[in-house]
Amino acid sequence: MQSLICRLLVMSWALALLPTAVNAAPEKSSVAASSPAVLIFSHTTGFRHKSIETGVATVAELVRKKGMIPVASEDPAIFERGELAPYRAIIFISNTTKHADASGDWLVGVAADNFHQWLKNGGAVVGVHGASDSHFFQPWYGEMIGGYFERHPKGVRPGKVSVKDVGHSSVKGWSMTEPMMDEWYVFRNFDPKVNLIVTLDPASIGEPAGDPWPVSWSKTYEGARIFYTSMGHSYESYGDPKFRMHLANGLDWALGKK
Ligand SMILES: [Zn+2]
Repeated sequence: MQSLICRLLVMSWALALLPTAVNAAPEKSSVAASSPAVLIFSHTTGFRHKSIETGVATVAELVRKKGMIPVASEDPAIFERGELAPYRAIIFISNTTKHADASGDWLVGVAADNFHQWLKNGGAVVGVHGASDSHFFQPWYGEMIGGYFERHPKGVRPGKVSVKDVGHSSVKGWSMTEPMMDEWYVFRNFDPKVNLIVTLDPASIGEPAGDPWPVSWSKTYEGARIFYTSMGHSYESYGDPKFRMHLANGLDWALGKK
């Protein structure tokens, strides 16, 4: 899997810039502290989405278009060794962990300490889809994201999403309601204080009519800007220009650019 990601990403990169950062287990980070780099992290110990490679490649392209260096990895040692300083942002793509027990949680101990320090030092996080389906035994993680995945109706369905924060850059150009195709999440421990950007009408996907389901939001955590969207289940999502813009501008927001 690593090699596939590397192959996807490395083709259009200047190899000289990042000789080791694209490897699964980089030695000492080769990204200079001043480089505008973004870590794209998709390590899984839980459900493995088939869309991860497409998601990583898509996000890497969006990062490159911003003049920043994308570094894709699935190696938790980056966190354990405290090699986060070069990264202006971390994009978690469906980095699921086990539901049954804490043995799949890797953001623990010194890895978690290093991550918290990075957040406090001005880090920024973008969470995509299964980023909320992760670290159920580390309550701070759900707090950081803004909620935990609870369930989803079966399959990918066309849904009607509504824009709640019309001024947010991640929905620029969207209509007040947009048809989107995805797997739709229900959350638990949802933080009602998040800034809701997009919601879903549950009736539009055949669920009982009721309160809109949160889909995308922004918040701050330990001073860091967090942007999360539950969309991004299928690789088709990443080909949708509306969703790509959502991710690209969501990242800009997290970076404090918008
Ligand atoms: Zn999914």
